[in-house]
Amino acid sequence: MRIDPHVHCRDGRQAYKETITHVLKLCDEQGVDIIFDMPNTDPPLLTERDMEARLALVPRDDLKRYRIYLGATTDERQLREAASLVNQCQQVIGIKLYAGHSVGALAVPGEAEQRKVYALLTAANYHGVLAVHAEKEALFKRSFDSAQPASHCLARPPQAETASIADQITFARATNFQGTLHICHISTAASLELIKAARQELNITCGVTPHHLLWSADHMKGREGMLYKVNPPLRHVADTIALRQALKQREIDWIETDHAPHAISEKLYPPYESGYPSLCLYRSLVEEVLPYWGVSEAAVKDITSIAIQRVFGERKFL
Ligand SMILES: [Zn+2]
Repeated sequence: MRIDPHVHCRDGRQAYKETITHVLKLCDEQGVDIIFDMPNTDPPLLTERDMEARLALVPRDDLKRYRIYLGATTDERQLREAASLVNQCQQVIGIKLYAGHSVGALAVPGEAEQRKVYALLTAANYHGVLAVHAEKEALFKRSFDSAQPASHCLARPPQAETASIADQITFARATNFQGTLHICHISTAASLELIKAARQELNITCGVTPHHLLWSADHMKGREGMLYKVNPPLRHVADTIALRQALKQREIDWIETDHAPHAISEKLYPPYESGYPSLCLYRSLVEEVLPYWGVSEAAVKDITSIAIQRVFGERKFL
């Protein structure tokens, strides 16, 4: 059983970008059995009512293949409800915190507010997974120039990611957070070092996407480079190589595609959306590229399934 623990099915008002039904069809082609859908939809997924409306979009026979995250806000009632849904419902896999805006309006960018999320989850005795999109907005630069797509890589610099990861580790420690802190889609070797150092005292995991493993910022040269605009951005090739090595050495917990298609016009013209349809890369990455890089069969099984089941809890996959 292979799991992709990070996809954006969108649907609803954004069905022109992607839908649950289409992603599940892609999963059949790509050899993926279960997906975890992200909550930065329009409107975002926050409450029990949102959960019910979302699950109603899933074909009945496919419910066993579909899980959702609920988004984190600083509203105590909302967070408590989300935490108890993770405990009670097999379909609700965890809580997602956008520590910086990415696609959509769902985000908690301030440090004090992020800390409050951890404190509220600890007070609610939350033992589940808190997945974080870690990019610190205070370190973003206004240097994006659509004539040079690669400028995106510096507008959301590596330091924004590492600083946000350091923040999350600080907040988890300070509030005695009892769940698992998952850092989504790491893009640099420095991020990995922070996570490795924190493993001794925290339940902390991290994932990597096919695009951050396969490509570097060099892919963003020229106008078509805009198609490779993702958050966090593609990085220097030294980071790409370090991530491959880390995956081989089992320092990264799993592969997550962050599958996020947009209309081509939205990528090449304003608003120059971030996201790549990376589920389409999954089968060739897992079945051809990883073995070519020397990742063992047992390790592939772990990073596509076993580690994910272990961290989210086997009862979620019965
Ligand atoms: Zn994502």
